[in-house]
Amino acid sequence: MTVKTATEHLITLRGVSKSYQQPNGQQIVILENINLELHPGEIVALLGPSGSGKSTLMRTIAGLIPPSEGQVLYHDTPLVGLNPGVAIVFQSFALYPWLTVLENVELGLKAKGEPPDSRRQKALRMIDVIGLDGFENAYPKELSGGMRQRVGFARALAVEPELLCMDEPFSALDVLTAENLRFELLDLWLERRIPTKAILIVTHGIEEAVILADRIIVLGRNPGRVRADLPVTLPHYRDRKHPSFQAIVDQVYTIITNPELETVEPAATVSVEAPKKEPRYQSLPPVRVGSIAGLLELLEDRQEKDLYRVAQELQLEVDEILPIVEAAKLMDFVELAQGDISLTPIGYQFINGSIDDRKQIVRSQLLNYIRIVQQIYRLLEAKRNQRIPEELVLDILENHFSPEEAEHQLKTAIDWGRYAEIYGYEEPSGQIFLEQAVSDESLVAS
Ligand code: ADP
Repeated sequence: MTVKTATEHLITLRGVSKSYQQPNGQQIVILENINLELHPGEIVALLGPSGSGKSTLMRTIAGLIPPSEGQVLYHDTPLVGLNPGVAIVFQSFALYPWLTVLENVELGLKAKGEPPDSRRQKALRMIDVIGLDGFENAYPKELSGGMRQRVGFARALAVEPELLCMDEPFSALDVLTAENLRFELLDLWLERRIPTKAILIVTHGIEEAVILADRIIVLGRNPGRVRADLPVTLPHYRDRKHPSFQAIVDQVYTIITNPELETVEPAATVSVEAPKKEPRYQSLPPVRVGSIAGLLELLEDRQEKDLYRVAQELQLEVDEILPIVEAAKLMDFVELAQGDISLTPIGYQFINGSIDDRKQIVRSQLLNYIRIVQQIYRLLEAKRNQRIPEELVLDILENHFSPEEAEHQLKTAIDWGRYAEIYGYEEPSGQIFLEQAVSDESLVAS
């Protein structure tokens, strides 16, 4: 149902950026120059890998977080403070355990200053609509996960928000419950039994986005930015096996798994810009070399080259396979083109090598391609005792990542470097030390 009132903008984002100041004074950019509009009548999915700023963007629209730059407009008027037209459904349900279902649902109405009588009436009506009839006086702990999330929906919908925001609302539920609840929500929306004008759903599930959304906005990471804005015009209820469904899933998969393609808005035609000149500081996905080896071996064994289907066969979500693919790509072990993944010659050499060959190959790939490993190696070489404290590396990383992310990056860099026997790590002192001198031939480029 895309009954768009062409002129009406529910939400407009103009050049919205969000950055946070690090303890060391550096600015970390989370969202960069986001421009988009949400219209009445549409379900919009915000899709992207974890850390691409989906939640931050949704909270900015809800007025929970002020942008650092740019503007959020609500009905073409700049938003100040909380967005009065928005209610949120959280992944974690966020219910008060000491309140009954009815009291939980009444909360939002109470906060809006609704008098007790009409508050109760509206809450009871929504409890009925959302299928919680008979559970009014139950406490959250007495309910299953699916029923608890129904309370989350009822609470958000009871205030009759113009925009219903949902932050991964189905990810804490089992597969079947999630699918039922998705379709029930769709029923309510398509039959106009809920008073909501538009829905914004944050998700990392491509199929979930294609099942529900009229429009998919793909966010990229580091910093978060809009990479594509795709319409989904298939009629509801969509069949996951239909070739048109699969084609959209493939298209989105291709965009997400090719972070270097700068895909931008225009809805009907996805254009591709040249990559930016300044290379971004690499972000190392938190995977072990063993997982990379596993993926490469699988690819060698099977004919299937379509990455989405490889993931399906392995029953992996995009969020689970993407970090492994990204890591393999950083080491130049795989190539991706139009959603197909294939081994590079060095990838073949890696899987066909002995354990020592593999270590040698990873060593040379890391020293040639991975910035933080190069930097650690140079620092170690420069030191007479060939040891450095991990804090030194964290300080470098915190110029590019949040403190928490810097820790993850350090852990991965240590993991990979240890595998390749470039350096070791000593606990509990947190010292990194050089394993052995690396021959100059290993360092071709830097
Ligand atoms: P997503 O929802 O796509 O997983 P988030 O919006 O939760 O992404 O976070 C994007 C990035 O912003 C993450 O790297 C996260 O660590 C960082 N981030 C979020 N909130 C803050 C904050 N208050 N201070 C510093 N960094 C933050």
